[in-house]
Amino acid sequence: MLELLKEKLTSFYPEMVEVRRFLHQHPELSFEEEKTPAFIADYLERLGVEVKRNVGGRGVVGYIKGGKPGPTVALRADFDALPIQEETGVDYESTVPGVMHACGHDGHTATLLLVAKVLMQEQENLPGTVVFIHQFAEELAPGGAIEMINNGCLEGVDVIYGTHLWSTMPYGEIGYRTGAIMAATDKFEVTIQGKGGHGASPHETVDAIAVGAAVVQNLQHIVSRNVDPLHSAVLSVGAFQAGGPFNVIADKATLIGTVRTFDEAVQEMIIEKMEQTIKGVCEGMGAGYDFSYKKGYPAVINEATETKRVMKAAKQVTSTVYEMAPNMGGEDFAYYLRQVPGSFFFTGAGNIEEGIVYPHHHPKFNFDERAMLVAAKVLLTATLDYLTEHSTDLVKSTRG
Ligand code: MN
Repeated sequence: MLELLKEKLTSFYPEMVEVRRFLHQHPELSFEEEKTPAFIADYLERLGVEVKRNVGGRGVVGYIKGGKPGPTVALRADFDALPIQEETGVDYESTVPGVMHACGHDGHTATLLLVAKVLMQEQENLPGTVVFIHQFAEELAPGGAIEMINNGCLEGVDVIYGTHLWSTMPYGEIGYRTGAIMAATDKFEVTIQGKGGHGASPHETVDAIAVGAAVVQNLQHIVSRNVDPLHSAVLSVGAFQAGGPFNVIADKATLIGTVRTFDEAVQEMIIEKMEQTIKGVCEGMGAGYDFSYKKGYPAVINEATETKRVMKAAKQVTSTVYEMAPNMGGEDFAYYLRQVPGSFFFTGAGNIEEGIVYPHHHPKFNFDERAMLVAAKVLLTATLDYLTEHSTDLVKSTRG
């Protein structure tokens, strides 16, 4: 069955490109998706797939129940776009000003829709069920995954797989990893309350800029001096807002930044050290402060057996398959993996010769569309492998 379906996927590649380019021309922002989920649901229904709309808000879930008994595999693709003005110059550019599919979620969606199309052709022989989770709002916390899970998208699901097309990895490569593959992405904000005054009389003030600068300096010591060098963490201050006229000492300063970790113990330690550092510096310098820390998506933690299955599947599709270093970015795929075992992998989609070199979220971002076919084949192979291995059918379906 596998070889036949992989060949069919190849023959459906032009349609995959067509679907992707249509979605690319009609991007919608996180939590504002309307036409995209309707398009997905309509497409799946035309294939004969059982569809649930408005799952967890704007999500779509498709169910292909095979003709033979067996387990349930879920595949997930996200479908939201970003508030970016496209500058690729391709002839299928976004038709929505200021909104762009700049992370490849259009490709994820097209990939999954065509996997559904090929699986429908062998529905009768399928030993189990395949669930297609089309998720809204991956780009914007709290994300769509939690609500889709709360609304039952993982009910009866035994394992889940997902991938991200990745423009800074060459086309033809697949990166997998057991354990943490993407980071927990947290946001913090520190407001420092000093005492403003005349620039000529610092002794009568508490300079919020001087305090803020000391806080930034000392926060940098947490990762370098408190985190075990064999663990990974990032603490970045992305904004420092303070001050006005040249001769006025700032009354207030605001620092905003992000913390990225792979391990909850490291994350907790960093939060505690941040509190101590901010308190110590501000109190020592006579300023008041307010510290807020907001946990974002947790780390994406891949399960070992299912990661091995993905790795084996990838090796049947492409030759460059390797265990990759973790990525400091975040993904709300993490929430699915907290409920069921599974694996999230990266599908190389860059191409230097074609000028496909821009990173994700860049106005010139694009990906080598052939990567969708690679991703589709790996997802299909891993799915059939799991279903066949765990089939409860007495006459096991023969592969190939
Ligand atoms: Mn993304």
